[in-house]
Amino acid sequence: MGASDSLQQAPLATAATVGHWIGGRAVTEGARTQDVFNPATGAVARQVLLGGADEVAAAVAAAQAAAPAWADTPPLRRARVLNKFLALMNEHRDTLAALITAEHGKVFTDAQGEVTRGIEIVEFACGIPQLLKGDFSDQASTGIDNWTLRQPLGVVAGITPFNFPCMVPCWMFPVALACGNAFILKPSERDPSPSLFMAELLKQAGLPDGVFSVVQGGKEAVDALLVHPDVKAVSFVGSTPIAQYIYETGAHHGKRVQALGGAKNHLVVMPDADLDQAVDALIGAAYGSAGERCMAISVAVLVGDVADRIIPKLAERARALKVKNGMELDAEMGPIVTRQALQRIEGFIAEGVAEGATLVVDGRNFSVPGHEGGFFTGGTLFDHVTPQMRIYKEEIFGPVLSCVRVKDFAEAVSLVNAHEFGNGVSCYTSDGNVAREFGRRIEVGMVGINVPIPVPMAWQGFGGWKKSLFGDMHAYGEEGVRFYTRQKSIMQRWPASIGKGAEFVMPTSK
Ligand code: NAD
Repeated sequence: MGASDSLQQAPLATAATVGHWIGGRAVTEGARTQDVFNPATGAVARQVLLGGADEVAAAVAAAQAAAPAWADTPPLRRARVLNKFLALMNEHRDTLAALITAEHGKVFTDAQGEVTRGIEIVEFACGIPQLLKGDFSDQASTGIDNWTLRQPLGVVAGITPFNFPCMVPCWMFPVALACGNAFILKPSERDPSPSLFMAELLKQAGLPDGVFSVVQGGKEAVDALLVHPDVKAVSFVGSTPIAQYIYETGAHHGKRVQALGGAKNHLVVMPDADLDQAVDALIGAAYGSAGERCMAISVAVLVGDVADRIIPKLAERARALKVKNGMELDAEMGPIVTRQALQRIEGFIAEGVAEGATLVVDGRNFSVPGHEGGFFTGGTLFDHVTPQMRIYKEEIFGPVLSCVRVKDFAEAVSLVNAHEFGNGVSCYTSDGNVAREFGRRIEVGMVGINVPIPVPMAWQGFGGWKKSLFGDMHAYGEEGVRFYTRQKSIMQRWPASIGKGAEFVMPTSK
């Protein structure tokens, strides 16, 4: 299907106001709204309602009412609802992708990939009967059995970032729902439509009203979720300062919290690496989705003589990037999500120059003919970046690749390990021993060997280390099942095997 066909099929993309979804129906009235932009044109496309304590209270009440029956529904029947949702997601994949491009700006083919990665979590969640199997100890003591089961938490919430408006919610709600919880999603206010579209698909799939709700908004809605006594767990994905705030505030209010934060992902190029493969990897991973991915590569660590050989190739490719409206199917990079984000990114570039880094390719002042109001910037490439510079230390979250020169493998590993973020990392090499040592010694949660963006598969679980994740459990996979359930141990015997008399000693196996 062509991209323009998809847009025509997306009714929500033309709705004037994106509302909430509470108790199985759309809520379109609200006092406060915020502009939602089409980043490719810079025009206001629609409004989004901004919810607060009232909307959160209504969503939690609906969830509380629906949760017990959903928790009691056999896992196999919950899986059947998710199977129908899976079919609908596949059917509407391009519509969802077009909604993403319209509000986020990323290129349509990349948005299709995002939806597919979200769908994979739904596929994983459909296996919930197997995933929820407990274990059983026959004859733990004479006539006594002991087993464990995992039960849902009740009402849980997810707070998600702008950069994956379909995939990141899908890291959370399919697993949470499959486990028997009711789920409240607070998506990013910058691209709110995909969440509402998925809510409609869940209803069509037969999910009971109230089991899934969407409250749009920003800090007010988030704070209301964090303090609500009936919200038992919060999953968050976003920037590190907010992740830390969510973790601390949620924990203070007695909630289970997993909060995934920001990143500064390095790609180490060893002198023995295939240089053309490394160039492809760096260009795709640094500039794909305009660098607005938590697993984007923002630092190239060039070992030994690699820098002099690779920088001219990187520069040539960065200059040749096809930057245009993401709905054009040959676009390689679309616009930045908002004007403020564009200004922040270009501010970092100015700072890099002031700090003394060599600006090899300058993406600033980029204009796309016919889209002069769009939030565009080109690909930027810096050389001679040092660990002391702000452009090295902080997350820019834009299409800016910083090259750091190091003398050897040991220095590369120390550099990566000293960074405060630890989300993703990659090493390009043709030496198996280097690859093995890298995987073992690097202090980062997700590692790629000759893989630039090692986002784990649906059944593996996603999570960084250090300031990239607050909490114990990774998102999705079996860690996700553990996060959205609590373990219960049951010990049982029957009257025929009970002896006579009170026991005053600690019971042991007999
Ligand atoms: P953000 O932190 O600004 O917003 C994330 C969510 O928090 C949104 O729903 C937003 O409404 C809410 N929020 C924002 N400010 C808040 C406040 N003061 N109080 C309470 N809630 C608030 O992040 P973003 O700009 O939407 O997304 C980009 C960030 O997300 C980047 O830092 C990126 O690295 C990170 N991210 C991380 C991962 C990961 O898996 N680690 C994945 C995707 C994105």
